Amino acid sequence: MLLTRTFSFFFFLVTITLVLITITLASSHAHAHPIAISSRSMADLARFSGAGRGTNITGISDFKRYLWRFGYLNVHNININSTCFSEDFDAIFESALIRYQRKLGLQVTGKLDSITISQMITPRCGVPDNNDHTHTHQMHSVKNFVYFPGKPRWSGPMPTTLTYAFSPEYTIHTLSLRQIRRAFRRAFTRWAKVIPLTFVESDDYVFAEIKIGFYSGDHGDGEPFDGVLGVLAHSFSPEIGRLHLDAAETWAVDFGESWSEVAVDLESVATHEIGHVLGLSHSSVKEAVMYPSLRPREKRSRLHIDDVRGVQSLYGSNPHFISSDLSSLQSDISVNQAPPPPPFPLFIIVFLCAYLWSFFVVSGP
Ligand SMILES: [Zn+2]
Ligand SMILES: [Zn+2]
Repeated sequence: MLLTRTFSFFFFLVTITLVLITITLASSHAHAHPIAISSRSMADLARFSGAGRGTNITGISDFKRYLWRFGYLNVHNININSTCFSEDFDAIFESALIRYQRKLGLQVTGKLDSITISQMITPRCGVPDNNDHTHTHQMHSVKNFVYFPGKPRWSGPMPTTLTYAFSPEYTIHTLSLRQIRRAFRRAFTRWAKVIPLTFVESDDYVFAEIKIGFYSGDHGDGEPFDGVLGVLAHSFSPEIGRLHLDAAETWAVDFGESWSEVAVDLESVATHEIGHVLGLSHSSVKEAVMYPSLRPREKRSRLHIDDVRGVQSLYGSNPHFISSDLSSLQSDISVNQAPPPPPFPLFIIVFLCAYLWSFFVVSGP
């Protein structure tokens, strides 16, 4: 009888362990996404580390595709189809890489160094980086913020009010609507404090000026989302007013409650995307809300001086905004907070279940 109980105990333990391993493997596979370099293993990426002009490594084409996707490689210049990049680390790729390193505020090496590769696999906004600096503000010495080509903005006399609404159809259920609304209200308020614009939530999605929704994969605007991490969100320049978030992300409003390693701070992404909706493109200042990338479990939702100067050069200042506040503005960065442990260690639960089950088997009918 003791032998039977011991056997059933271990049988249960082994079965549950196998099930858990399968679930873990399946979920890690779900993290792969079509930005090919992001789905490569670290060991595989190490093959490219330090690669420079003149080298030929199978897989360089994925890095070319990445730079093309985010606005650094003009396919007409290299006269080949975007889906068919060569594996040569050529001069055109080198100059694109240099532009990327300069834009992202990295050390400009012109090589695929480990810091550059690490930046490329960091989750980011899907809006391509606009390298056109001709529209940058000329009055300040610090001019890292960038507009969209043509400097579009919401027209009409200031102050004005814009309405926003959440799609009733394209939403997520991992957060409550109340949590989503609260995160967005805070994000809109950050911008409204510095410019003469007021944002009001509306129930009328069809007529709202800014339409917010969570979408999966290909959702009809030519910019399909890619699953967990990779591209997190994208939005459109004024006065289109569309703000799209990838429904596949583990959106979080409180890292104390969400212990997923791939959790993404909704308020930080919302603040960034509202910047696009208002007319700002990506900034090179790493602490700015308009910097294109955001690591999992990183919070960066407070406006940086660079964000404030950028948006004020489009709309002017909020009369209640005190310019001396600029110096006290600091980014709210808390990188990679370690996820808290699960509420109750899983192995203890499994062990207890196995123990109870062995009783049931032995004493059962
Ligand atoms: Zn962006
Ligand atoms: Zn979209």
